[in-house]
Amino acid sequence: MAYIKVMLFYLIGLICGIFTLAMVVDPSKGWMAATASGIVTFFFFYVAGPALSSSVECVKDDEKEAPIIQEQPKNSALSTNASGRLIYQIPPVKKTAKGYILNPGTTFELTLLTDSETEAQTVRDLIDHYEHGTWLEKAPLAPILARCQLRCLEVDAYIKVHKKQFQDKVNELVNNSQEWSHASKSDQAYLMEKIIEKAISVLSVRLSTELAPLLEDLPNTAGLDAKIVDSYGQEAHTLYMLYAHEIGKTQKIHAVDQVVYQNFKKLVTAKLCLNGVNIPQAILLEQLSMTDLTEMITDCNLHEKAKNKADAISILGSGKNVMERLMSMLPVNELYYLIPPKGMEKKIADLQKSWCYYDALAKLMKTTYSIARTNTFKLITAPNALSGEKIRWEVKSCDDCSDCESLHILYEHTPPEPPLHVGCQCLIYWHHTAA
Ligand SMILES: [Zn+2]
Ligand SMILES: [Zn+2]
Repeated sequence: MAYIKVMLFYLIGLICGIFTLAMVVDPSKGWMAATASGIVTFFFFYVAGPALSSSVECVKDDEKEAPIIQEQPKNSALSTNASGRLIYQIPPVKKTAKGYILNPGTTFELTLLTDSETEAQTVRDLIDHYEHGTWLEKAPLAPILARCQLRCLEVDAYIKVHKKQFQDKVNELVNNSQEWSHASKSDQAYLMEKIIEKAISVLSVRLSTELAPLLEDLPNTAGLDAKIVDSYGQEAHTLYMLYAHEIGKTQKIHAVDQVVYQNFKKLVTAKLCLNGVNIPQAILLEQLSMTDLTEMITDCNLHEKAKNKADAISILGSGKNVMERLMSMLPVNELYYLIPPKGMEKKIADLQKSWCYYDALAKLMKTTYSIARTNTFKLITAPNALSGEKIRWEVKSCDDCSDCESLHILYEHTPPEPPLHVGCQCLIYWHHTAA
C-alpha cells in the first residue's frame, strides 16, 4: 500500500510539473499562476514523494531487525497448557521434492526418503516421544525403518562422506594388526571392537561407536521384513528384531525377568522360538561341559571315545533317554532358542546385519530429532525472543567431536543452532547478562 501512495504523489507532482511548463509557455491557458503550480510540483515531486518513499525503506529495515520469533514458522508451534506451561509441538511433517521433513522448522531438519505420507507420519509418531509436555512410551522405530527400507537424507549424506574413510581405516588397522591372523573368532570380534573405535575416532565428524553399522555395507534384504510381518505378525517382527542378536544361541530366561519372559513366550507362540524339550537335543547338549558329555556317553553304555564336544554330541545322537538325562542336568524348561523364519535360513545373517543398520539408524535419527527439538525450544522461548531481554548464550558441546568442540564458547548475540550434524548432541543454554 505504501508504495502505491508514493507512486501517486510522484504522479501528481509530474502532472503539476507539465501544467507549470505549459503555463510558462502560454500563461493564458492556465487555471492557476505558474508560480503556484511550480510550488505544488515541488511539494509533491521533491518533498512528499521522497519522504514517503524513505519511510517505506525504514519499515523494511525494521522488519529485518525484528526478533526472529516474529518471523519463524516454528514459533507457531508454541502454545500454553492448562497450567500455564509453554508447550512446543513440532509442526506436522512437510512434503519436499525428496521426501518428507519429519521436524520442519527445527534447528536440524531430518528428511525421510519416501513418497508415502502414511510412512512419514508413522515414523514421526514413533520418533517423537514428547507430546503436550510429557514423555511418551513408544514402540521401537527400527522395525518400520527395516520393513519399509526407509532411509534418511541427512544420514545418507553423512554416510556418503565418511564410509570410505572409515572402511579404509578398518582395513588398514586389520592389515597392520600383529594379532589378527592368529586370533580366534571370539578374539577377532573383540579386536574388531577396538579397531572400529579407532577408525571412528579419525573421522572429522564423529558418531558414537555403536553407530558403526551405518558405515558398513548394507546387505540386500528387500521384501524380507515385509514377508516376516505377513507370516508372523507385526508384534512378532518387532520382538524378533529386538532379540535378533540372540538368534541361534540358547537363552536361559527365568519368569522373574517379566518383560523378557513375556516377549520370548510371544515369540514361542509365533513359532519363531523353541522352548524346553522342543529345542533339538544336539543344541541342548552343547550346554554341557566335555566332562559331563563324556560321563553321559558312559552312562548310555555307548563305549565310544569322543575326540571333542561335536564328536561327543554326535555319539549321543544314538543314546537312549538322553532328553531325560538332560532334564536332570539342565533347567530345560527355562531354555529358549530363537530360530530363523521359515524359508529364510540362508538369509538370516543378512537380516541380522541389516537390523543392526536400522537399529543404528533409528538411534541416530531419534537423538538428532530430540536435540533439534530441545535447542529449538530454547531458542524460541529464551527471554530475548519473548521480551527482548539481554541474555548470553553458551553451547555445551559434544566432547568427542572436534567440529563441535569449537562451539564451546560464550555468545553475546546469535548463538549457533546445533545439532551441527546427524548425531551431534550439542545443547545450547542462555544466561542473564550481568547488569
Ligand atoms: Zn560434532
Ligand atoms: Zn555437536
